[in-house]
Amino acid sequence: GKKEEINVNSFVDEYLRLAYHGLRAKDKSFNATMKTDFDPKTGKIEAVPQELGRVILNLVTNAFYAVSERKNLQQAQEDNEYEPRVWISTRRTKDQIEIKVRDNGMGIPEEIREKIFQPFFTTKPTGEGTGLGLSLSYDIVKAHGGEIKLETHDGEGTIFTIFLKK
Ligand code: ADP
Ligand code: MG
Repeated sequence: GKKEEINVNSFVDEYLRLAYHGLRAKDKSFNATMKTDFDPKTGKIEAVPQELGRVILNLVTNAFYAVSERKNLQQAQEDNEYEPRVWISTRRTKDQIEIKVRDNGMGIPEEIREKIFQPFFTTKPTGEGTGLGLSLSYDIVKAHGGEIKLETHDGEGTIFTIFLKK
């Protein structure tokens, strides 16, 4: 693909909606509160739109999946207090932009944290996950000269942050 100038905030917003509606189309009962916080200073970057779009789609889809799974788990324990939430934010720092995807799912157990970026690693049932999302995302972000950082806490949730050069 070819690099183009993209407006980060509207781009992220577009793919976020795409992910949400894709999941709704598959599962009518799917529901999660989305909270966005777009830094107006984020501006534009040079990126391959289809590729960066895939990264956002992957991270957001994973987050929605994680909160849905947790919701089912909590419901099985007759706990109806849990509210599935996904936060997406952008931020501009001195010479970088950050795109953050946070969820209040179950978090990623320590034993598998090392493996999640490997191709074909998945904990999802056959047909629901290829295990390629994060490995692809990692490669795409790297090819753009950026980085992906993972923060996760068992039973609390997960944050993936993409850092890209301005
Ligand atoms: P897939 O989504 O097809 O399983 P990915 O490469 O996108 O493949 O993710 C690999 C694995 O990493 C998932 O199967 C899941 O176990 C874990 N994972 C990724 N994102 C999250 C998240 N936000 N919360 C919990 N687990 C996650
Ligand atoms: Mg995935």
